[in-house]
Amino acid sequence: MVHFVGAGPGAPDLITLRGAALLREADVVIYAGSLVNPALLENCRPGCEIHDSARMTLDEVLQVMERAEAEGKTTVRLHTGDPSLYGAVREQFDALRERGIAFDVTPGVSSLFGASAALGAEFTLPGVSQSLIVTRLAGRTGVPESEALDALARHGASMALFLSGGMLERVQERLLAGGYAPDTPAALVYKATWPDERCVRCTVGTLARAGRDAMIDRTALVLVGRFLNAPYEKSRLYDPAFTTGYREGRA
Ligand code: SAH
Repeated sequence: MVHFVGAGPGAPDLITLRGAALLREADVVIYAGSLVNPALLENCRPGCEIHDSARMTLDEVLQVMERAEAEGKTTVRLHTGDPSLYGAVREQFDALRERGIAFDVTPGVSSLFGASAALGAEFTLPGVSQSLIVTRLAGRTGVPESEALDALARHGASMALFLSGGMLERVQERLLAGGYAPDTPAALVYKATWPDERCVRCTVGTLARAGRDAMIDRTALVLVGRFLNAPYEKSRLYDPAFTTGYREGRA
């Protein structure tokens, strides 16, 4: 059996209870060493076989899983944040299905939510934005034309950009081309929830300079949108005059 587990954004106590239990019981662990906090591996069983996938190809990862399976062992494949975001997991799922190897998936706290927590921000503010666009700038890996950053920017929604910290000049240019005003608030969150976490607040018009000044290029998220500082309406859910399924509104 192979368990895909979301490791969370960095802090070792932000893995789920289920993920931590699977990790404690694993015979073999393959972890994404470029981003997963190695402190998570301290609770592995003595003798647990540990591989860093940052140095491996997909075939090598699959070989380790196949061998473990043949020996009746349990494997944990530990991915950063939540496995379903930029995790390259689908190709592993499909290869395991082809080989008849059973697997399951335990979700994780995405770095996206580590970043909003670090900023004390809410992506979905009434009267400001009720949508969050999760995307990336096209780099060595392409992005479908209809999802080009300037096309998405036209919505003016809250936005979180992964894998784009090393291309901030172009991020800024595309966001402005798409219609965000230069004074739209933005933030860079470097290594959210790690001990060396850093948050830099700026605007769309100063994004590239802010990144250069703070020397942030990798393991960072770019958050963009008026949710970062605009005036907003209070939620109706907690409005005393608003009736919900749980509470009668009082005039
Ligand atoms: N599945 C992961 C994302 C993997 S893609 C998740 O859900 O978070 C790798 C990208 O994620 C990095 O380039 C960076 O943009 C972002 N990232 C991962 N961990 C991060 C962290 N702790 N702080 C800020 N960004 C992070």
